This record gives sequence, C-alpha cells and structure tokens, in this order.
Amino acid sequence: MNPKTLAIHEGYDKDKHGTMAVPIYQTTAYDFGNAETAANRFALAELGPIYTRLNNPTTDILEARITALEQGGGAVAVASGQAASFYAVVNAAKSGENILVAEKIYGGSITLLTHTVKQFGIEARVFDSDNADDLEKLIDDKTKAIYFETLSNPQIAIPNIEKIVKVAQKYNIITIADNTVATPVLLNPLTLGVDVVVHSASKYISGNGTAIGGLVVERKGLNEFLKNNPRYPQFNEPDESYHGLVYNTLPLPNFTLRIRLTFIRDTGATISPFNSWLLIQGLETLHIRIKEHSNNALKVAEFLKTHPKVKYVSYPGLKGDKGYEKAQKYLKNGLSSGLLSFDVGDFDKAKQILNDTKIFSVVVNIGDTKSIITHPASTTHQQVSKEDLDKSNVTEGLVRLSIGLEDADDLIADLKQALDKE
Ligand SMILES: *Cc1c(COP(=O)(O)O)cnc(C)c1O
Repeated sequence: MNPKTLAIHEGYDKDKHGTMAVPIYQTTAYDFGNAETAANRFALAELGPIYTRLNNPTTDILEARITALEQGGGAVAVASGQAASFYAVVNAAKSGENILVAEKIYGGSITLLTHTVKQFGIEARVFDSDNADDLEKLIDDKTKAIYFETLSNPQIAIPNIEKIVKVAQKYNIITIADNTVATPVLLNPLTLGVDVVVHSASKYISGNGTAIGGLVVERKGLNEFLKNNPRYPQFNEPDESYHGLVYNTLPLPNFTLRIRLTFIRDTGATISPFNSWLLIQGLETLHIRIKEHSNNALKVAEFLKTHPKVKYVSYPGLKGDKGYEKAQKYLKNGLSSGLLSFDVGDFDKAKQILNDTKIFSVVVNIGDTKSIITHPASTTHQQVSKEDLDKSNVTEGLVRLSIGLEDADDLIADLKQALDKE
C-alpha cells in the first residue's frame, strides 16, 4: 500500500475493534490472566503488553505507522525527540567510545551529544555535514555512530547523505539521521541506506503543537548488519541485565528492541498513551500538511526575495539557493518544508519585524499549523559574540520563519507591512 493509505490504516483493525478512531489505552498495566502468560511475556516467548513503561496498545499503532511510513523494520516511541536521540546514541556507543556528529544540527542535540553524553564517557567528534570530506579521518575502532540531520534545524541545510552512508558502510558503523524537519513525506533516509531514523514527533508529525513525543525507527535488515559485527558486541553477547538474553538470536528488530528492553525499562522516558494518540491523528494528515507548509513557504520566500529591505533569503526550494540542487536530489515532489530564513541587515530592524508582524507568533518551535517568527541573535544566540555569530552564519539581522497553514497571501501582507515600516 501507499504511504497515504498506510498513515490512516496501518496497524489497526477497525473491524475487529469496532471503532473508527484508534482507542486510547489509558492504562498502566495489563491483566495477564494466569501465571504462565505473565512469565511468557517477560521471557518474550509470547509478545504482548507488559506494563506501559515498556509497551502499550495505542503506542503500538503509532510505532507500526511510523515504521510503515519510513519503510523501516521496526520502531519504538518515546517521550520526546531528545529521548529518541539519546537512546539511539547510547544504544550504539558506551563509555570510552565516540560518535561523529554533524556540525549543523538542532541546538538541543548539540548540547545533548557534545556535553551531556560526555558525562557518560561518550566523546562527540564534529564533522562538516555539508561535504563530509573530513568524516573518514575522524573514525577509529571506538567510533560507534554517525549522527546527522537530513534537513537541519535551523539552517535548513541538507548534508551529503550519499557520502556519509558510503563511509559508514565501509567501516560498518551505524548511521543515525534525525528526520524531524523533512518528515517521511519528503525523505525516507532508511531507503538511502541510513540505519536508524530519529524524530521529534512534537513538530510536523503532531502538526498542531499539542504533544511532545519522539520516535526511533530502524531499517529493514539492520539485524543482519549487527549480527557478529565486531563494533557492536552488545547485540551479540549475553545481556546480563536481561538474564543473559542475546539480541541476535531474536527474530525481532534488535536495535529498537534493545532500547525498549534496557534503556526505557531502566530510565523510563516513555510516551503517554494520550500523546501517542495525538501523534496518530497528526500522522493521518501529515502528507497534506507538508505539501501546504512547503507551498506556502515557497510563496513567502519568493516574495521576500523581491523585497528591497531583504538582503538574502535562504530556502532550499528557491532556484539559485545553495541547497537547491541537494533539495532536488533528495526531497520528494519538489517540496522543501516550511522553514526558511532571511536577513534584513541589522539587529534593530529584525527585532522591529518580530514586534510588528501580527499573524506570526514569537515562539521557539517549528512545524505548527500557526506561523512562527524568531530572531536568533536576540534569543537562542544572545550570549554568542558577534564574531562567533558570523562564523555560525547567524547574522544579527537574521530572521527565521516556520510557515504555518494560514493563507500565504495573508502571511505575505503581514511580513510586507512589518518590513515597510520605518
Ligand atoms: C525539536 C527538535 C528535537 C527535540 O525534540 P523534542 O521533541 O522537543 O524533545 C530534535 N531534533 C530536531 C531537529 C528538532 O527540531
């Protein structure tokens, strides 16, 4: 079946359950009925719900749908995008080992991967994601993952995915791609040879800005890649914490299973059934929304490009943009998401635009139905020196937009009156 159909029907048998909407199993625990069933579930001899920290029937459907949409082999849903990235990384690397991290990634992922996981003894080595020319020389025997974003937040940069995958395959290293901004509607990293996809489902998948959630999806065939791969003994040797279980003996998606059975079991960043349900609603309309977000963003970008007060516009859907060729190569249907940025040359003008737009909200989020405007130099990058701002391409006059689903003409008129104001 095709993605639009899978997004609406995968994993749920409405004839069996008799409800059109997926029910919310708002329960902590499950009645096993007898001692044997209880023992079998814990021993994985029989699959079924155990306790909502580990699994839940509503969440199962969310996991089945994202697996189908990403054309993967299995998935696990967690409490947030941050939890998804954290679990994916610690599932691959442990203390004394290292990971390679793309330079252009989400701010929360930078602090997580370069500071917080360092406390667990995992070293992050940053590489240039635009070209990935320096990737190979950073690899050693202790390198356990290569982490990047398919469409980076906030730069909207597309890395050289082909090259990253090629190098990773040469050294048998797991690649982890954050596909939050692109979503499965624009890009399926697993079909390009990426091993693991992570999502902040809080953004476009939720779509309405109503739920925090995260997803980890593994590719089909990852079990074979992990089996007897000397870089990953954790999948091939007995797990003492699970009475000697050897993951590679199980015909289940090993990577996400280990996240569930060890990391979620022990650290508990579980998604609530209600949030899983909200994200199921979001997935149903994702393909329509991404198309509208992208079409609206392109119209706004084209308008901004012609405005005399705008120095430049960054949007990979714009012809002539530095990301245009990669967008054409990697993103489906000529769409490029709802994120864009533009520069008005100075700090005060940028702030004035934030204050004078009426439809846009001053919020640090993306992917909502409502349009959002931010000025990095006075908020997220406030403590950064002017010199460092220039280095990171965050200029003082840079304004970022997450284009929502309002009428593009209204958004353009709103930006125009704010730009024209003296
Ligand atoms: C927001 C975001 C995250 C973190 O997700 P949360 O759900 O807020 O924890 C990770 N990656 C990207 C690209 C994001 O935009």
